Amino acid sequence: AKGAAMVTAVAARVQAQRKLIDEVLSLFQLTPEHLVNVKNKMRAEMEYGLKKETQPLATVKMLPTYVCAMPDGTEKGNYLALDLGGTNFRVLLVKIRSGRRSVRMYNKIFAIPLEIMQGMGEELFDHIVHCIADFLDYMGIKGASRLPLGFTFSFPCKQTGLDKGTLVEWTKGFKATDCEGEDVVDMLREAIKRRNEFELDIVAVVNDTVGTMMTCGYEDPDCEIGLIAGTGSNMCYMEEMKNIELVEGNEGKMCINTEWGGFGDNGCLDEIRTQYDTEVDEGSLNPGKQRYEKMTSGMYLGEIVRQILIDLTKHGLLFRGQISERLRTRGIFETKFLSQIESDGLALLQVRRILQQLGLDSTCEDSIVVKEVCGAVSRRAAQLCGAGLAAIVEKRREDRNLEHLKITVGVDGTLYKLHPHFSRILRETVKELAPQCDVTFMLSEDGSGKGAALITAVAKRLHLKKDN
Ligand code: BGC
Ligand code: MG
Repeated sequence: AKGAAMVTAVAARVQAQRKLIDEVLSLFQLTPEHLVNVKNKMRAEMEYGLKKETQPLATVKMLPTYVCAMPDGTEKGNYLALDLGGTNFRVLLVKIRSGRRSVRMYNKIFAIPLEIMQGMGEELFDHIVHCIADFLDYMGIKGASRLPLGFTFSFPCKQTGLDKGTLVEWTKGFKATDCEGEDVVDMLREAIKRRNEFELDIVAVVNDTVGTMMTCGYEDPDCEIGLIAGTGSNMCYMEEMKNIELVEGNEGKMCINTEWGGFGDNGCLDEIRTQYDTEVDEGSLNPGKQRYEKMTSGMYLGEIVRQILIDLTKHGLLFRGQISERLRTRGIFETKFLSQIESDGLALLQVRRILQQLGLDSTCEDSIVVKEVCGAVSRRAAQLCGAGLAAIVEKRREDRNLEHLKITVGVDGTLYKLHPHFSRILRETVKELAPQCDVTFMLSEDGSGKGAALITAVAKRLHLKKDN
């Protein structure tokens, strides 16, 4: 009888523990009503961003990009492109041949050390120019003519022209001094001058979403949206000029960089944010900012997971109640680990092995819980991102007075590309929340760099016409 009582006691404890874990996981479960709400709020914040009166305080900034024309296939020539702000920093040479819509690319990846990302602004730009010099040498074109350059700079910039962009504020892992409020094209030009080894013709500063949209638009004329689900999260789309109060003119369209990562910074997502989101926000380089981004992008999902694991461990529900040094370390769960842990058909033993690699000693039960936590966090991310996207496709449909809209979204980003479930859940959510839109997702390979070159090429083509 004693033995039986013990078995019941153990079973009761296991049940109680399970209940606690389920409670935590349920904080990440969004109801259809939640998602409709997110979609509607996103739509409202976007409209604030477009209006002159409300723009200064808008959390979704809706920045004009001065990109109005899509490539028409007659572009040609050699272009240099820079891609700064994602997982890698790259310098590219892009050769565009007219007529056949063929593009050849050569590129080199460079590391940007943490002390440069978060050091002095001048040194960051000196480093960038150093990498360009290295690339030009590597390609054997340093002495060549003054190449036109497109600068993919994946941070919010207030633009007053294609080649003018003032950094509003750093996001993600960057925090170099003396850059916010400065024109990044000027900073790049000055750094090139300081080095005094070569000349470049900087034609355009481009957000990565815009580059991605352009790259996909080169092949699919229905592509009017660019989405990045990677280290950071953002979206751009083609808007009617007449709806953009900040820019003169009512004819045609212009691409708007929404900077939707700032959605929620006025508290409008508080209802669904959890204590773990607050902890991640407070421990970040930009507390209080980019709250939607912090719930939806690769740089932060692993951090949310880590905060949950710490909490569960504190309650004795994981890792035998021992919070290891490793678990206390920021940034251990990169997107690639989350993606591995969540892959289908991965035996629990393999999950344990991945955790082992991360320095986390887990039991079989632990690994089940960790996998569930990762699933809950990434699922919510994909749904939130889908709700945002549903807001924009619905807006485009209504603005165009269509019963039914067919539209293509150009997508890039490590989370979208590497994660085993993110892209599917994102697509399902858009379908549910915007049933009158037929949305095609087009993966852009190397979109941001190539897109910057295409934008530069279009600008050159239009200029040539004007000069003639
Ligand atoms: C930046 C955006 C960028 C996105 C994706 C965000 O942190 O603010 O400008 O497009 O990351 O890279
Ligand atoms: Mg990128």
